[in-house]
Amino acid sequence: MSNLETAPQPRVCGGRDDVSGTPVHELLTGKQVPLGESTVVRRLLPSMGRRMVGAWCFVDHYGPDDIVDRPGMQVAPHPHIGLQTVSWLHAGEVTHRDSVGSLATVRPRELGLMTAGRGIAHSEESPRDHSPLLHGAQLWVALPDGHRHTEPHFEHHPRLPGVTAPGLHATVILGELDGARSPGATYSPLVGADLTLAADAAVRLPVEPDFEYAVLSMSGAAEVDGVRVEPGSMLYLGCGRRELPLRAATDSSLLLLGGEPFEEQLVMWWNFVGRSGEEVARARAEWMTGTAFGEVHGYAGGRLPAPELPPVPLRPRGRTR
Ligand code: MN
Repeated sequence: MSNLETAPQPRVCGGRDDVSGTPVHELLTGKQVPLGESTVVRRLLPSMGRRMVGAWCFVDHYGPDDIVDRPGMQVAPHPHIGLQTVSWLHAGEVTHRDSVGSLATVRPRELGLMTAGRGIAHSEESPRDHSPLLHGAQLWVALPDGHRHTEPHFEHHPRLPGVTAPGLHATVILGELDGARSPGATYSPLVGADLTLAADAAVRLPVEPDFEYAVLSMSGAAEVDGVRVEPGSMLYLGCGRRELPLRAATDSSLLLLGGEPFEEQLVMWWNFVGRSGEEVARARAEWMTGTAFGEVHGYAGGRLPAPELPPVPLRPRGRTR
């Protein structure tokens, strides 16, 4: 998916100054952002005051939307550098095409993982014969400096490992949870897991005290560490837990996102994660002139132009610790 804001503001991310070393409760309710002509998403990250959770640097939640007589998701070819994108669906399908020749249709609870590395372009669309509902999350993972120029590639993992306990089934999307490891490539210590809770479930999920965590509610009525999290909202939890109490009043679905606090400073603008304003401006120019990123074949329509750069130079902020 793409950041389709017409005047995106630069975001300086990373560093430990906004990481809570102890358990906290910080409820993020998201901001409504139009995505293309037919989709509105709730943007949970980056948000006011919270820029990252581990290496997770972008979280959009969308739907469930009735798209019976509508095109559904239609995101034209656009570029990325320095990040991975994770497509995660609870309903519907998304067809992915990219400039290294990948073509895949991702379905609910399958992992579509694109590592942009030094640069890739892709499109994402609901197929013509699509399901009536579209519901999912679009997530980005920042790549650490040692891996951010890696070769771009796409992975489709239809089957993922799970962890089961009474009242809980967890699907490991990325990284590792309770000994189960996703086959998706990772470049920093992190976890992403889809948690299905049965009505009246009360579980204590083992987590890493050195990771910071957040939980996004996808559906249902669940409490995370005693805090009710409505669907489309996300609770930031900080670090310092060995287990996370979860309760569900009805059948519920949560996304657990966590990771080692990401210490590098980033400049995040539009669909680029870089280390300097010059690098981001160069990526923008290469997209607009067509001198990098390659071609996405098979998408019916033109490509997305980049917005204008803001007048103020993009600069990463220095580390505070
Ligand atoms: Mn994208």
